[in-house]
This record gives sequence, C-alpha cells and structure tokens, in this order.
Amino acid sequence: MVDRKYVVGNLKMAMKKDDVIQYLKRINDKIYSNQVILFPSSIYIPYFLNQYYKVGIQDVHFESIGPYTGEISPSQAKSMGVSCVLVGHSERRRYFQETDGVVNKKVLKSLSEGLSVILCVGETKEEKDLLKTDRILKKQITYDLRDVDDFRQVMIAYEPVWAIGTKVVPKNQEIQKTIQYIKDLVKQEYGYPDIKVLYGGSVDAKNIDTICQVRNLDGVLVGNSSTDAEQFLHIIEVVLGK
Ligand code: PEP
Repeated sequence: MVDRKYVVGNLKMAMKKDDVIQYLKRINDKIYSNQVILFPSSIYIPYFLNQYYKVGIQDVHFESIGPYTGEISPSQAKSMGVSCVLVGHSERRRYFQETDGVVNKKVLKSLSEGLSVILCVGETKEEKDLLKTDRILKKQITYDLRDVDDFRQVMIAYEPVWAIGTKVVPKNQEIQKTIQYIKDLVKQEYGYPDIKVLYGGSVDAKNIDTICQVRNLDGVLVGNSSTDAEQFLHIIEVVLGK
C-alpha cells in the first residue's frame, strides 16, 4: 500500500476576513497536494475552495435537515465542496458537552452523506496519570465508530487533551506506542487493517522533524501553528517533502 501522509490544519476560530485573505495569498500558490486538508471557520469555507488542498469543516450536525438554528448538516457542507469533517475534537467534547453517542451519530451521518471523517480521540492529563489512556481510547473508538462499515473514509487523530495548545508533546516512543494501540484496536474490533492515524497536539515548525520520526505515523493535525502560513508551509514540507 502506498505510504500517503496527511497534514491537517485546524484553524479553529482564528482570523477575521482580511486575515484570511492575507493567509490565502501566502499559502495558495505553495500547496500542491490533496494530502493537505484545511479546516477554516465555516463562514470562510468558500474562500478556501478550488485549490489543490482539500477543505474540511470543523463540525456538523447529525441530522440532514431540521429546525436546528445555527447548525450545518453534512449534506450542506458536501454541497459546498467540503470533503471532510472533524468529529469528536476535545474542544467540542469539553465545551459543548459532546458525548460519544453524539460523536457516533455525527460520524455515521457524515459518512452516509459522502464526507470523509477525521475522528479525534485522546485522554486527559488526569486519565494519563491514572494509566487509563488505552482504556479511554478503546471506549472512544469502539463507541464513536460503532456501525461504521467503510473505514476507507475514516482517519483517526490521536490528540492527547493535555498536549493541545500547551506546547507539551509526548515523547516519540509514547506516540508510536499509542498509534500502534489504535491501529491494532481498529483491526481487532472492525477487521480493518489499514486505518490512518494522525498525531495532534502542539505540533509546530520546531518539533515537526522529531515528530516525523515516529515510524507508524500517517500524518499530523496542526492547530495553532496552522494559522501561521510560514510555519504551516514548513510543516507540510517536512511531512510531505517538496
Ligand atoms: C487541535 O486543536 O487539534 C490542536 C492539535 O491544537 P494545537 O496544535 O494548537 O495543540
């Protein structure tokens, strides 16, 4: 199987319109890969379309249509040219009380509407200290991916909650061990041997060389550093090569 790596940029709620335009001027003629996926705020999605990179949406509702003011459905996103959705980000779980049940519904609806899914999973610091990482990941992955039948449209991002936005990154050995745990789990639970697993949490231009040495890594999910065009371009160059 071809060893395709991915670089995902989660721009979160960063940037206003003028910043977005400046940002796009800096990146658009420099990214020639569909293994880069950018997740802007939804209202800016149209600005990002029709480039070589793919465009994702940071969240969707789990219904196709209905009286859900403020929400966006997977089919609406798809109709705009969005190809991918982030589901289960720890910020959604934490600040919007998203349970594994909700995450599972979003995963299933997104896949059935033709979006590919990046499922974010990860343990908190407290869970890590109690040596519960594997247990938490198993709970999240078995619940969140329940009833999925096509894993070719799913990637998993391992994002330890304690590493997001903290400038603290696990040791390579730890990342490698956990990625392998996730790959083995998906194979064992769902019979799918080729799941792609990304690492996310404080990835930046300084640590990307080190992180890239993790042997079983299929790519990275970059938050804050993806909002800095130069850093993000550097990360892409290191992960995907020129
Ligand atoms: C994220 O939000 O998914 C993330 C990885 O953020 P950061 O890179 O800022 O830690």
